[in-house]
Amino acid sequence: MGRTNVIDGSKLAAALRQRVGEIAAQLHRETGIMPGLATVLVGEDPASQVYIRSKGRACTASGIAAFDIRFPLDVAERRLVAEVERLNRDGRIDGILVQLPLPAQIDAQRIISVIDPAKDVDGFHPFNIGRLWSGLPTMVPCTPQGCLRLLRTVHDELSGADAVILGRSNIVGKPLAALLVAANCTVTMVHSRTKDIPDICRRADILIAAAGRPRMVGAGWIKPDASVIDVGINPVVGPDGRNRVVGDVDYEPVAAIAGAITPVPGGVGPMTIACLLLNTLLAACRRRGLPDPLL
Ligand code: NDP
Repeated sequence: MGRTNVIDGSKLAAALRQRVGEIAAQLHRETGIMPGLATVLVGEDPASQVYIRSKGRACTASGIAAFDIRFPLDVAERRLVAEVERLNRDGRIDGILVQLPLPAQIDAQRIISVIDPAKDVDGFHPFNIGRLWSGLPTMVPCTPQGCLRLLRTVHDELSGADAVILGRSNIVGKPLAALLVAANCTVTMVHSRTKDIPDICRRADILIAAAGRPRMVGAGWIKPDASVIDVGINPVVGPDGRNRVVGDVDYEPVAAIAGAITPVPGGVGPMTIACLLLNTLLAACRRRGLPDPLL
């Protein structure tokens, strides 16, 4: 067993953001176009506020105009639909991101379906999901895209690898399965109704944990030298009584067995934001019939 390769998501994300920034600057110089991202936040959930703030800051640093739109928790669904329709028509906006989860009175799928697929930088619109599964050019959802980019730094070839995804959500597990199938992996998805999860995980060359359960994945679940991607972001109170964030993977014992692993924080999280910037840049180019920038 070799030394564990800790995949530095912060460093990879910084490089991707810089590249997006360079291409956005060139686009602006040559055409006067500045890509624009509108984020829509309903309510005052502290975690969502942190995400929205960091997305806004990342946009500004990469030369993307950020439009921060907020609604109170009790906003009516029709008001939100009207706002998304307005953003669809607004020529300054290339990407629309509605921060999930939404409050109970709002049907999130309805809102996602109203977003113009060309501006759907999260890649959650059914049209874009269908294109993803069909292997057609689309907006690749940011977190799964980030996972794949991280995996590619340690796997020259993914073809034939046994990949297990823990979690089947629409935003992580399912689109990631589409990407890994397209990369010729043999994909197994496990979820809350799956029998013998540890046994299935132990067969994985690649294990992606996206269950939202702090430190659920223990060392006994890991095949020696497997690559482990930890998507989980779980707030916990540390032994010192302070709030911190841990992943779905019990990091130290798992790192001792895995061949490669992503830390939390500093793994998938920063890549998600970098991929959001990239998708906004792609949307800005595609909407105007320009070729995809090479990245
Ligand atoms: P969801 O709650 O939507 O989905 C969780 C999935 O995990 C479900 O499919 C669920 O199964 C499964 N699951 C939950 N508990 C168990 C269990 N005990 N055993 C087996 N399967 C289980 O979560 P998300 O996909 O939205 O997010 C997952 C995690 O990733 C969270 O910690 C979230 O904060 C984080 N996240 C991180 C991002 C990043 O940028 N790094 C971005 C998005 C999410 P079932 O379907 O049967 O209920």
